[in-house]
Amino acid sequence: MDAFLTRDERRFREEIRDVIGRILPPDLARATRRGIHLSREQMALWNRLLHEKGWGAHHWPVEFGGPGWTPVQRFIFESECARADAPPTSVFGLYLVGPTLYTFGTEAQKARYLPPILSGDEFWCQGYSEPDAGSDLASLRTVAERTEGGWVITGQKAWTTEGHFADFMICLARTNAAVKPQAGLSLFIIDMKSPGITLHPVLTIDGGHSVNTVFLDGVTVPDDALIGDVDKGWTYAKFLLAHERTNNAQVHRSRREFERLKARFTGERRTDPGLRRRFALVETDLAALEVTVLRILIDQTQGREPGPEASIVKVIGSELQQTISELAMDVLGERALELPHDTADDEAAGWTERHLFRRVVTIYAGTNEIQKTIIAGTTLGLR
Ligand SMILES: Cc1cc2nc3c(=O)[nH]c(=O)nc-3n(C[C@H](O)[C@H](O)[C@H](O)COP(=O)(O)OP(=O)(O)OC[C@H]3O[C@@H](n4cnc5c(N)ncnc54)[C@H](O)[C@@H]3O)c2cc1C
Repeated sequence: MDAFLTRDERRFREEIRDVIGRILPPDLARATRRGIHLSREQMALWNRLLHEKGWGAHHWPVEFGGPGWTPVQRFIFESECARADAPPTSVFGLYLVGPTLYTFGTEAQKARYLPPILSGDEFWCQGYSEPDAGSDLASLRTVAERTEGGWVITGQKAWTTEGHFADFMICLARTNAAVKPQAGLSLFIIDMKSPGITLHPVLTIDGGHSVNTVFLDGVTVPDDALIGDVDKGWTYAKFLLAHERTNNAQVHRSRREFERLKARFTGERRTDPGLRRRFALVETDLAALEVTVLRILIDQTQGREPGPEASIVKVIGSELQQTISELAMDVLGERALELPHDTADDEAAGWTERHLFRRVVTIYAGTNEIQKTIIAGTTLGLR
């Protein structure tokens, strides 16, 4: 990317690199290198350290606490965080709920919920999917019924990531059954400590616990838990999903993993032509994705929210993550089987778990098949 940066941007990068190098605790960087599912405490710590610098939500507008960086500066910052093995901050509050609230929320909601997201004091989860409503989200069956001074919500949410340590859920529920499915949904804020919430952990293929099934059994929320207008939830939900998809490209983490893998491969002086060719292909795809993500960021500063481009980076970014983990398994061979706590080898640690868990990246945030249908319809005009 160096060729694209101005002198000021390079100076900015040096400053960021210097600060991250000073504030990132080494054990947190090591845990990030080795693991996939970080604890709330680990994510909150990094969030707090960034917040102290005014960088808690580097992509938010200045009026809500963002640092006012240009898209290129944001890109540089994210790339430097990944390069230093800084832990990811929690996606839900910072990337999904925050932008939804400052765009569609009331002044009171902004004042109440944005500051603790910014500081890492409160965590959120996303209650959209249900057992029979994933790709076909609009068919969801959780209902919210009006009661005096609020709503009563009943239903079951599936695959709720970080639900077991979230303080709040952003929940999509049906408020009108008499209209077409998309037109009868509303978006609510649910306090996860509310009576009527039961949570069952779901272990994923890697043996980790990051997702849950959440049962909502007559959960009462006040009137001011509604985000925006009644029955307009689908509009807000789509906005939120576009943010989720752009973020899910994970381009900087992929770059970091790829560079580590390449260093190991070349350090071992291996010459296997098949592997070398695969490294070259990933290098090319990764560079193309970096430029595409940068283009979307620049569009955003000109007032364009991500549309079909979000689907494109989601598909390419997730496929690349899987390609890199397959490459890692082939480069590491049987060393990839060593368990993280049994090996001193930081580069090999956790790769098998990562490789297994990575099945999810082409499923969550909207499956890749669905994204390809969106691209075909909106970008290629094939309907
Ligand atoms: C680890 C993990 C974490 C998640 N975290 C969250 C979360 O925090 N919050 C949340 O709300 N959701 C979450 N999800 C849910 C995720 O968004 C859904 O799994 C996803 O949208 C797919 O829905 P589904 O599982 O019901 O699969 P289905 O929709 O049943 O799809 C099954 C298969 O059929 C294909 N398919 C379905 N419809 C079509 C079609 N029209 N055309 C072509 N192919 C089609 C799909 O691509 C897929 O391959 C998570 C999922 C996973 C696995």
